Amino acid sequence: MSWTNYHCHCDFCDGAERPLAYVEAALDRDMSALGFSSHAPLPFPSTWCIGLGRWPSTLERYRTEIDSLRRLYRGRISVWTGLEVDYIPDLIGPSDPAFSGFDYRIGSVHFVGRTEVGLPWQMDDSPASFALGLEEQFGGDIRALVAAYFASVADMARLERPDIIGHFDLVRKYNSGSLYFDEGEAWYRELADAALRAVAASGSILELNTGGMARGYIDEPYPSPRLLGRALELGIPTTINSDSHRSADLDFAFGEAAAILSGLGYERVMVLGSEGWRSEALAKRGRGKPGLRPAA
Ligand SMILES: [Zn+2]
Ligand SMILES: [Zn+2]
Repeated sequence: MSWTNYHCHCDFCDGAERPLAYVEAALDRDMSALGFSSHAPLPFPSTWCIGLGRWPSTLERYRTEIDSLRRLYRGRISVWTGLEVDYIPDLIGPSDPAFSGFDYRIGSVHFVGRTEVGLPWQMDDSPASFALGLEEQFGGDIRALVAAYFASVADMARLERPDIIGHFDLVRKYNSGSLYFDEGEAWYRELADAALRAVAASGSILELNTGGMARGYIDEPYPSPRLLGRALELGIPTTINSDSHRSADLDFAFGEAAAILSGLGYERVMVLGSEGWRSEALAKRGRGKPGLRPAA
């Protein structure tokens, strides 16, 4: 047994390479499973999702291509066809029947509030747009932004019950050096805790996501080790994902991620099989290549 990864983006959405390159890279790293999770179409124009105009044909081509890779590589690596679906109240969510035919769905909150023209505001687009949105949407009140974000994550867990909760505390993305808030303060911990309790009740898997580390925004995974510790207390299952947008990052910092989980007392992680999700010993993970951070 070796690493698995269920969160990656190929060139069907905003990833860099064809799906085949990711499967070959996963084999090269002795990974046992690779799940693709292209960004599901949004009901408004976007530069990083499977296109709306071509939907459902592009969505269908995505499924067909990954399914053909699954057959081609059977016996060497498990290839799965997932989706990362946005949760935007009254617009889109992981439980939308349009996305039911996929192997699994990652539910993610990238949008909080609305812009002046009434479109959802994307929180994680860039440091500058985060700063601007904080002013325009929330009058500069970071607590209000964080509260809106975690309330949306909690609603998604409660109402949509996705297989996996994507990058649980994405609101930390631009908070390196506590630029906007102190993650140790009681108000922040309480907001995050309420969302974690909703995740615990949903039965969803909480991914450990190393994508923010790979892109140099933060030094620790989503969720932070503190929140991962709380998730363990609440009995929430986890799996290690990279959210990679290029094949070179498929197992980015997985060795560190597994060490964080072991250090907190986690003994098991979730893996996908033909019968659905099941837990497996964490110690079995990582017997392939080490999944270290590549040299800068
Ligand atoms: Zn995402
Ligand atoms: Zn993603």
